[in-house]
Amino acid sequence: MKFIVVTGGVMSGLGKGITAASIGRILVDMGYNVVPIKIDPYINIDAGTMNPFQHGEVYVLKDGTEVDLDLGHYERFIGTELTGEHNITTGKIYSRVIEKERKGEYLGQTVQIIPHITDEIKRWMRDVAESKNADICLVEVGGTVGDIESMPFLEAIRQMHNEEREEDFLLVHVTLVPLDSGGEQKTKPTQHSVKELRSLGLHPDVIVGRCKRELEESTKKKISLFCDVPSEAVISAKDADDIYEVPLIFKKEGLDRYIAGKLRLGKIESNGAWESFVEKMWNASEEVTIAVVGKYIDVRDSYISIREALKIAGIHNSAKVSVIWVDSEDFEEFSEIEIEADGILVPGGFGQRGVEGKMMAIRYARENNIPFLGICLGFQLSVIEFARDVLGYSNANSTEFGETEHPVIDLLPEQKEIDRLGGTMRLGDIEITLKKNTIAYSLYQKEKIFERHRHRFEVNPEYIAKLEKAGLIFSGHSDGGRRMEILEIPSHRFFLATQFHPEFKAKPFSPSPPFMGFVRSAIEFRREVNGES
Ligand code: GLN
Repeated sequence: MKFIVVTGGVMSGLGKGITAASIGRILVDMGYNVVPIKIDPYINIDAGTMNPFQHGEVYVLKDGTEVDLDLGHYERFIGTELTGEHNITTGKIYSRVIEKERKGEYLGQTVQIIPHITDEIKRWMRDVAESKNADICLVEVGGTVGDIESMPFLEAIRQMHNEEREEDFLLVHVTLVPLDSGGEQKTKPTQHSVKELRSLGLHPDVIVGRCKRELEESTKKKISLFCDVPSEAVISAKDADDIYEVPLIFKKEGLDRYIAGKLRLGKIESNGAWESFVEKMWNASEEVTIAVVGKYIDVRDSYISIREALKIAGIHNSAKVSVIWVDSEDFEEFSEIEIEADGILVPGGFGQRGVEGKMMAIRYARENNIPFLGICLGFQLSVIEFARDVLGYSNANSTEFGETEHPVIDLLPEQKEIDRLGGTMRLGDIEITLKKNTIAYSLYQKEKIFERHRHRFEVNPEYIAKLEKAGLIFSGHSDGGRRMEILEIPSHRFFLATQFHPEFKAKPFSPSPPFMGFVRSAIEFRREVNGES
């Protein structure tokens, strides 16, 4: 078993996650079993309570763990499904150590960062890698080298480096190579961050330099000289047009060969799967525009999985999907709106802000027969909008937003009790049964599916019959039929919404069925509007 560790210097947001995921993809295409682990040095146990304004999307794994969005990149690039153990946080490590201490497992010793915390970190990484039969375990250390929080993790990695054989360990350091006002590439920040790394006893094998332009030969030579790595191990990572291009950029830079040499990998022939996928992406013959109407629109990362799911569905339909981001609150001052797009998507969310605007978008899509996909809160709001406008319950609402005469979205009775005690979220993979002869069934082509959840509220069972009678069909359910999971309007060209989050399962080689149906319908709609069919 081999370890590749990815650290970052100079500043955050350099695309360490994409770098690690891209290295993972390169190795997957060589035929290796790559097992990723993301270390988040924050004290939170997981990302569940983190604000998307600050942190971007909360990504949900199949076991229900709420994690940083980088895990989403790993699942998509590597084509795997991960669980909570692939995400290590300071909170998790300390809880485990404190739990052991309370049980007396340290036999009266003083419990310390070194060796107890560092041992726990190493054990965690090795256990995960071994239990998943990893050929290569890919570890990304979040944050930047020099942060106080990451110290115990970097120390654990230093120890591991000593314990592993030379050919079983590789450290990749990602840094920034800025341009000065004259456009010259500056290497000082890289030199400083490598120095910082060295003061912790770590030495990079590979340096990935993020830069607006490709690194010049002279820049590479300078980094090589000052940072003590061979010049072929200085990899130029210029800003890519699309993140899916990054594995190919790395290959062009010879990173695949360098890693294979250093780790003494036997098979290095790639199956070329990623190349074909990216080629398909560049050769899209159609173009569609999707309006995503949400709340955290200014924070681009907050809907990253939705953007990727749309892009992937586009690639599989030979179409480039352009997304326009619309802040639903902007609608609320108008009585009528117009959205110029080939499809409208209302994503998930929490809290009342912007929901009336989202419902205006839903109504616009429903009344104008424009392809529509609603996700989680978007599903719930579709029910409310329909109840208000079609059933005539003008004050229908969700109890998430307060008391109402028609609580069409509500907590189930047993949840109300739990909720009083602090609330629970329904998380992760849950089995859903699909009704035959529905759009949902035609998209998935099977009766039982698993999709990931992150919600508390449900369609109120008391309103189901009324809604269905008026033309809103629930085509998927779970929990023995008690919880509604998918809705559709058969008289509409494509109006589908899901209580779950299909975006978390979309991968380059297995697109998400609801996204596929939605994008296909948007393409047809566009052709029709343009008089092409
Ligand atoms: N706020 C809603 C609920 O808790 C929807 C959640 C979501 O969109 N993720 O049920």
